[in-house]
Amino acid sequence: MPTDHTHAPGLTSWVASAQAQGNDFPIQNLPLGIFSNGGAPRGGVAIGDQVLDVAAALAAGRLRGAAAQAAAGPSLAPLMALGRDAATELRHALSALLTGAPAPELLHAQSAVAMHLPCEVRNFSDFMASYDHCHRLGSARDPAHPLPPAFHHLPVAYHSRASSVRPSGTDVRRPWGQYVKDGATVFAPTNAMDFELELGIWIAEENEQGLPTPISAAARRLFGFCLLNDWSVRDVQRYEMPPLGPFLGKSLHTSISPWVVTADALAPFATARPAREAGAPPCPPHLETSADALRISMHAALQTPSMTTPHRITEAPFERMYWTPAQMVAHHTSNGCNLLPGDLLGSGTVSGPADGAEACIAEILLRGPITLPNGETRRYLEDGDTVIFSGQAHAPGAASVGFGECRGTILPAHAA
Ligand code: MN
Repeated sequence: MPTDHTHAPGLTSWVASAQAQGNDFPIQNLPLGIFSNGGAPRGGVAIGDQVLDVAAALAAGRLRGAAAQAAAGPSLAPLMALGRDAATELRHALSALLTGAPAPELLHAQSAVAMHLPCEVRNFSDFMASYDHCHRLGSARDPAHPLPPAFHHLPVAYHSRASSVRPSGTDVRRPWGQYVKDGATVFAPTNAMDFELELGIWIAEENEQGLPTPISAAARRLFGFCLLNDWSVRDVQRYEMPPLGPFLGKSLHTSISPWVVTADALAPFATARPAREAGAPPCPPHLETSADALRISMHAALQTPSMTTPHRITEAPFERMYWTPAQMVAHHTSNGCNLLPGDLLGSGTVSGPADGAEACIAEILLRGPITLPNGETRRYLEDGDTVIFSGQAHAPGAASVGFGECRGTILPAHAA
């Protein structure tokens, strides 16, 4: 992934808040999203604590061309369909606009706008690609065989549900479901509401059905990234999984951060994939690739109704993932399946090896219940609890870029 003048760490914008320390949206980021402020939803760019209105910039003559047109409407799918070159062209134009003559009339405060999904989610597939997540949970189940049989040979995945993906801030209703309680199968509100801290991957362009995207071209299918909470209902999931995999334990709701951090923005954070563990079989040739792991520090925090500030419970390194986003695309299309613009992939739970790097409660509980600073404890999530994700890409000599926030609050189950 090449870097250029838009990534220069010294670059500054006339939007003063873009230079604020610890801000997720400096001039080097330029994430795209769909916002509204009373009127119709339309394309915007996060910069500091502001949103640049793409349609207004077109009308004012400060942006022009097919890429900007494709990003100005109620969905980013037209831009995803144009592909990575169009996204790069738009990035260059946005960088020039936001470092050029000031135009504050093109901005809206992020605090004053509503954020929507970046596009209609066409399909949603969720992976399981963290060695530490699989190994930790698998060791508790069967210490002699902690990893699934295919783990070293392909990024394991299942087809999840596109219709229930919602932007950050949408409440999550505790679901009813079937599970085993005291030896009997019951249908009742879940007692095992969990989160999974994941990276979401938005797909660029479309491969013709029957024609795979080879690993050599797979990185060009990565349009951009978001934070993704794959809400998981463990009691229901455990009961329903064999032999066809997750279903109602996963399809109730998926939360995503609304800003799409483009693959271009993450170019400075590419790094080599971690080496395979001693004795592991080699990566199959059709999935073998060089440096495309991404240095992203991912965080989950929990806030209960009686806490005034959220408490961080997870800090996990995305660069540890055993399979990379490009490998997921190559695997997903390897049978000729057509991936579409507007398709969303979940990376799978991003856990690391350390205590505190468990990226879902099911893993945390292997060490015991969560103890919060106010003395409360948690096993799974209770009604009113809020889970908040954040993430920052970082590398020596580069300006860090962030993802904003992905949050959801648990509502009580509906009445019987
Ligand atoms: Mn998941």
